[in-house]
Amino acid sequence: MVIRMAVLIVGTANHSGLAAVIVKDLRSGVEQLGNMIAEARCILPFTGAGISTECGIPDFRSPGGLWTRNRPIAFDEFVASAEARAEAWRRRFAMEETFAAARPGRGHRALASLYKAGKAPAIITQNIDNLHQASGFKADDVIELHGNTTYARCIGCGQAYDLPWVRARFEEAGEAPDCTVCAEPVKTATISFGQAMPEDAMRRATELAQSCDLFLAIGSSLVVWPAAGFPLMAKNCGAKLVIINNEPTEQDDIADLVIHYDIGETLGPFVGN
Ligand SMILES: [Zn+2]
Repeated sequence: MVIRMAVLIVGTANHSGLAAVIVKDLRSGVEQLGNMIAEARCILPFTGAGISTECGIPDFRSPGGLWTRNRPIAFDEFVASAEARAEAWRRRFAMEETFAAARPGRGHRALASLYKAGKAPAIITQNIDNLHQASGFKADDVIELHGNTTYARCIGCGQAYDLPWVRARFEEAGEAPDCTVCAEPVKTATISFGQAMPEDAMRRATELAQSCDLFLAIGSSLVVWPAAGFPLMAKNCGAKLVIINNEPTEQDDIADLVIHYDIGETLGPFVGN
């Protein structure tokens, strides 16, 4: 079965009968998080757009975010329409300075510290910005559920292309280039709405979620599926679940600890530990 990316409000609220532990102030949140990190054997961080906003990358879904101004282009539309492909590439090139200038923030650096200390074997991310790799994770240990926007791939044969190659051809021909190997469209190496999820990433994320003992869901509103299934899966397999996000999320009610404070402020104390 092909699993496709979609937004879904599932409403895990109150199904467990457990009351969420929402911290009252940042200091006690940092302290409780520190205790849970110290006690954990295998930590699995899972990140969404909120961790990258302090790096200048907008959260697509938030008020004022890109998707409220520009409706996302679904995968079927990209495949069917040359105009949709051209529009997708125009938007990507318009974001290039932002992506190229972004550097890892405090959240990225704190998670890289856990990784280097051997506490976290890998990281699952919904982000496409390459900032976990830039913070020190090996590329193989960053499980990208929604792909990566810093390079391109043919949607037919998977051939990789770099963005300057795409841009030069786009500017020359006035339309999005096709693959030189198989003539199918070339797209950023991201997963669009309606596009099949990457099978290898899904398999690895499942194995990690089932074997960790502390799952940290950071900067995700947990409404895009199947990604949002991983915190739930980890919790069901016995892991403790911590949610760190500016806003309430769909799964606060099943979490062991919920921190509704700024991610950089919350994780800053863990940089270099
Ligand atoms: Zn191809």
